[in-house]
Amino acid sequence: MSPGIAATAVTSHETETLSTLLSLATLRDPNAHAISYYCSSEPFPDKTHTHKLTTLDHLLRRVTTDGPTGPDYLTFTNDLTHVVTLGEKTSLNSPRFRAIFACGSQDIWQEVTLPALVSECSLEIDRFFRLAPLLRAIQSCEPHCLVLTEHGKARILMVRGQEIEEIETPLPPIDFRPKSVPGFSHHIEGNLRERSKAFIHDLIVKIQHVMQEHNCKHLVIGCRKDLWSELSPQFHKAKLSAMIAGHFHLPSFEISRGEALSESHAVMAKDRERFYKTFWEKVQEEPRQFALGVNSVLNHLESGRVLQLLLGNLVEAHVSECADCQAWAIEERTLCSTCGGARVARVPAEELILRKALSTDVEIFAPEQATAKQFGQVAALLRY
Ligand SMILES: [Zn+2]
Repeated sequence: MSPGIAATAVTSHETETLSTLLSLATLRDPNAHAISYYCSSEPFPDKTHTHKLTTLDHLLRRVTTDGPTGPDYLTFTNDLTHVVTLGEKTSLNSPRFRAIFACGSQDIWQEVTLPALVSECSLEIDRFFRLAPLLRAIQSCEPHCLVLTEHGKARILMVRGQEIEEIETPLPPIDFRPKSVPGFSHHIEGNLRERSKAFIHDLIVKIQHVMQEHNCKHLVIGCRKDLWSELSPQFHKAKLSAMIAGHFHLPSFEISRGEALSESHAVMAKDRERFYKTFWEKVQEEPRQFALGVNSVLNHLESGRVLQLLLGNLVEAHVSECADCQAWAIEERTLCSTCGGARVARVPAEELILRKALSTDVEIFAPEQATAKQFGQVAALLRY
């Protein structure tokens, strides 16, 4: 299964957030007054969150006393004050991922809230918005269908990040307990088998309908081990196997939604890791089909050859970028080698790669940082 970003793979809500991301990626503010603020309070322990808020407060005081000047300075400080005020108000009880993007001189104020599984708490001020955390948040919300079943009973749920919703009770439960009728045991057993088959058939039809309705590509099954051997061939026959991210042992049909969410996410995380691992293995096996590393990936993005992009461990990677002509270089520079300008700054390589990828038709995979650290820096599958 491919967990990348593509308009066809997300719901209408994600499509809306995706178009916000694409539009934010086009911003370029010459005064470097673009503010990107992220806060996801729940994954952080309270102390860390308090520390981050203190950091925001210090940053605000530093910027407002020693910061940049210029015609848009007042608008900028107003934006920053507003962002920090909202940041401080963000309830520690709210588990949702929140981001604010502000650039007063270009009349941009964009707030995004998602039920994402991404931990991020930061405030950045630059010529561009910082968008990698938003992309990770969007991808962590890609919906998947969770089916909990045991003999004759099933629950269908849709999971989107931290949200889980019971869709419907698809079928009336069937009583599979054998009734004692002397002389008819073979007949009863055969009848039960038929009823079980019919139940699984109806369940699969329901699953297909729900997945189509929710534009969902991923399926997770929770059931007892003995039932899985019965279900698996039926899913294969219905051509659903490719959508199955995995299954887990269901100890009780009445499992709570919280427990179901946790089990389901563990299955999805493993499936995504398998995908990333396979991608990196292909890079090693067929190096001619891939670009590897910041320099090569950026060059191939500019020549339009990138088909798929996998962001890896880019935490320490930076590039020099000219504010005047947008020329970039891997090495640190004080003057631009293309236009000779002095407005050259070090920017995160991940953000430059992302901006270039978002401006073209590239499928992007952005694993969360803990997963990305297991693999290489960055790799791209090439078109030809
Ligand atoms: Zn330049």
